[in-house]
Amino acid sequence: MEPKVSIILTSYNKPQLLAKAIESVQQQTMYEWELWIMDDHSNEETVQTIQQYVDDPRIMYRNSLVEQKERYQTTRYASLINEAIPLTKGNYLTYLTDDTVYMPTRLSEMVAFLEENSAIDIVYSSQQIQVVNEQMTCLRQFTREAVDIQSDAADRVDHCSVMHTRKILDQVWEKFGGYWDDDPLHWCRGDAVFWQRLNAFQPFYPLTKVLDITYKTPYSVQSLFRYLPATIPDGMLVKGTGEEIYLIDEGKRRHLIPAMFSFFKYDLKKIVDVPDPLLYRLEEGIPIAHTSHLPPYRLYQDEEGDVFYLEQKQRRKIISSLVWKKFHFHRKEVIKVDSKLLNNIPSGPDIDAHFSVPLLENRVYKNHIHYWLMANHSLHPIDKKVLERLKIDLDPIPIPRNIINQCEKGAPIVGEYL
Ligand code: UDP
Ligand code: MG
Repeated sequence: MEPKVSIILTSYNKPQLLAKAIESVQQQTMYEWELWIMDDHSNEETVQTIQQYVDDPRIMYRNSLVEQKERYQTTRYASLINEAIPLTKGNYLTYLTDDTVYMPTRLSEMVAFLEENSAIDIVYSSQQIQVVNEQMTCLRQFTREAVDIQSDAADRVDHCSVMHTRKILDQVWEKFGGYWDDDPLHWCRGDAVFWQRLNAFQPFYPLTKVLDITYKTPYSVQSLFRYLPATIPDGMLVKGTGEEIYLIDEGKRRHLIPAMFSFFKYDLKKIVDVPDPLLYRLEEGIPIAHTSHLPPYRLYQDEEGDVFYLEQKQRRKIISSLVWKKFHFHRKEVIKVDSKLLNNIPSGPDIDAHFSVPLLENRVYKNHIHYWLMANHSLHPIDKKVLERLKIDLDPIPIPRNIINQCEKGAPIVGEYL
């Protein structure tokens, strides 16, 4: 049997759903397919699940054996797909993720359409999306409809709803020098980036029927990206699936070793969970591993008793006792350090009881219903949801409108994936 369709299934640590995905392929009404299970070095349970299906001669399995430290250097599923493509034999190619199932007629209907319309190279169908909880109970569902002929399918058509010819794939290779772009920047929309490549040649033609169901679980990487801005502001504490806590500083992630966490009086409640792909695409900075590595945006007290707020390149002295209340500083946050350490840092404008410009960096200000974050010398409007996600919503500093007007304004900080 020569397969007509090659299915590339990317898998990582979702054993139960993966089994459903594989079985949905085996239950296809069409027989001439091959399934490439591209596993990304999953846990034992997932590997054992896959082993139960490899007896089927149409099912092939590859394990990437990717090292954990390399995992987030590319958009993994795109890398796996690129590895699989040269192995495939079908005249048509289609994609599946380990949290999606095909309806039984998906392959036959799409193949029939492409065979009947030989000038068309790309077809897509409607998709049902089920938002589920940890027990896989459906919380809500909706349909992503395939209606239009899409010349701009990016972000409109899902990874698992498309089939295309091998011919168009060859054209993509010639024009772009590769198939899928696996730059880690595109982790959340690697499919969209590939659709743009396909759209350089042809639109996507719709089949209105729902031909796949995708499940959005609480662990979905996309859910973790929710309300996070593309760039995490400096001063945030972040954590991925690993144990390490990082401080974002000048756009880099600096490992904050546990002893320093308490020395510098950080608060566990301020740690923001971020998806690993986002965390690992940040350049790694110098770890904060010693009490002399003073991180910015903290209050430091020297041996004379003076208290300073440290910003990126300067220390600003608190010269009025009213400052504490006004800027929502707390005495318990003060870190006592050697005067020499502070003297080495250039001194900036003093902090008095007025809201003088430039405002203190890395603080959240509020006027009426509007929120602002002072970062990189400008005041950025920031969305309430984003503030909550970044755990800096609790105590914004009320500030008069005229001060806001005097400040240099920066780009709004908005969640990338809402
Ligand atoms: N994936 C992968 N390696 C990883 C993480 C994910 O190959 O380290 C695959 C995963 O199996 C899936 C695709 O990438 O096929 C998209 O990931 P996922 O479904 O987790 O994203 P989500 O839907 O959760 O946002
Ligand atoms: Mg998914």
